[in-house]
Amino acid sequence: MVDRGPRPKWTDGHVTLMGDAAHPAYPVGSNGASQAIVDARLVGLLFQKHDMTPQALEAFENIVRPQMTKVVSANRSGGGPDGVMQLVEDRCGGRFESINDMIPHTKLATHDKKYKALVDFGIKELNKRSPLLILCRLCSYYSG
Ligand SMILES: Cc1cc2nc3c(=O)[nH]c(=O)nc-3n(C[C@H](O)[C@H](O)[C@H](O)COP(=O)(O)OP(=O)(O)OC[C@H]3O[C@@H](n4cnc5c(N)ncnc54)[C@H](O)[C@@H]3O)c2cc1C
Repeated sequence: MVDRGPRPKWTDGHVTLMGDAAHPAYPVGSNGASQAIVDARLVGLLFQKHDMTPQALEAFENIVRPQMTKVVSANRSGGGPDGVMQLVEDRCGGRFESINDMIPHTKLATHDKKYKALVDFGIKELNKRSPLLILCRLCSYYSG
């Protein structure tokens, strides 16, 4: 478990960083294993589009790095999902009967919405996007 600031560059020619290597942050805001999977799917898609070239890796970095910079920064400053846990700890030392007595549901919902809006991760926005990669297309790509 390592928490580092966002990196200014991931790609150098035929080499790029992805998953934890690209964003080594506590996996507290959908930025752990799920982000490594999103990275892999996107790199696969961009290999289909640009072949296995530095251009594909640059395209990957240009899409994901700005998003991850926002996610990692939010999590480091209490703007991520763990921020509400800290709020409860601050208000009652973690002891409560009902979470609604500590934080109104509307406040939780607003916090959640704000975090997701950072990178358009709301349910509606995600459902509007086309699939990143159709797996059978990737399989046929590699098997020729
Ligand atoms: C205690 C703990 C709890 C976690 N809980 C969650 C959770 O609940 N939810 C969540 O989403 N995420 C969680 N994570 C984070 C999640 O495990 C990582 O974000 C995810 O595994 C990153 O995937 P990755 O493929 O980028 O890296 P890794 O899974 O670390 O894979 C890197 C691989 O590269 C190999 N490797 C390293 N060096 C070399 C080399 N020189 N040559 C060849 N291979 C090499 C390693 O052996 C490893 O298999 C947790 C992490 C930890 C440590």
